[in-house]
Amino acid sequence: MFRKAERKKIKLKIAYSAPSGAGKTYSALLTAFGICGDWSKVAVIDTENGSAELYSHLGEFSVCPIEPPFTAEKYIEAIKGAVAAGFEVLIIDSLSHAWSGDGGMLQQHDDIVRKSKSGNGYVAWRDIDPIYTSLVDCILQSNIDIIATLRAKDAYIETNDGGRKGYKKVGLAPIFRDGVEYEFTVFFELTQDHYASPTKDRTELFGDGGFIPTIETGQALNEWRNSGADWKCSICGQTMTSALYRKTLKAYGAAVCSAECKGEHLKKQPLETGDEPF
Ligand SMILES: [Zn+2]
Repeated sequence: MFRKAERKKIKLKIAYSAPSGAGKTYSALLTAFGICGDWSKVAVIDTENGSAELYSHLGEFSVCPIEPPFTAEKYIEAIKGAVAAGFEVLIIDSLSHAWSGDGGMLQQHDDIVRKSKSGNGYVAWRDIDPIYTSLVDCILQSNIDIIATLRAKDAYIETNDGGRKGYKKVGLAPIFRDGVEYEFTVFFELTQDHYASPTKDRTELFGDGGFIPTIETGQALNEWRNSGADWKCSICGQTMTSALYRKTLKAYGAAVCSAECKGEHLKKQPLETGDEPF
């Protein structure tokens, strides 16, 4: 029932959150090239009116522009398209449009509230939650390295100084649903003078002090990922994709790479029911 815990090779899910003008597109591009070392394997979903193309002198990366309305479906379609086309790193620039942009989730929420008799905003989230989950799951589970950029706004907390209420600036907040930073392998905040610092870092590669992202940032992330263990079939030991590993582990209680290995496993531990991932 228990097995030894080990960190496996994963697809990287990185985020750069920054106010406009801090260089998040440029930082994401350098990081992407550092990860895969080949501009032809880098793709950009562009909601920012061609801002990635300002950097086309860097190399021959590909761009998929998305126009409003910025629905989650459009993002999901573009992510699946990037995987199918064989790109290795996908930059989503920016993810914030899916939240606060024209036709994004906040606007869809407002539309539902306006059309409802109750005008109950809380209830309307029931319709938006699955949309949010489908987009975040697609980002996290797709078999491709992803670097998302997010716009950030000044964040304030309410202060109470002897009964006198006020607000104090406490840094930057990404424009997306609260808590999105916990979904990523590393979540960087970029300051106006281009310094990145991680607010969340599963790799423990980056200290609290700021640094300017470069190609080496991507190289370090790639090395960290490659230092993880392979995903291996529990019957024959062959390397398999993380997606098939997870799917078969869930369905059969063992990671199996093929119908043959599944058969071998089920001879030992028959299941009454189960999906058919092969
Ligand atoms: Zn096998």
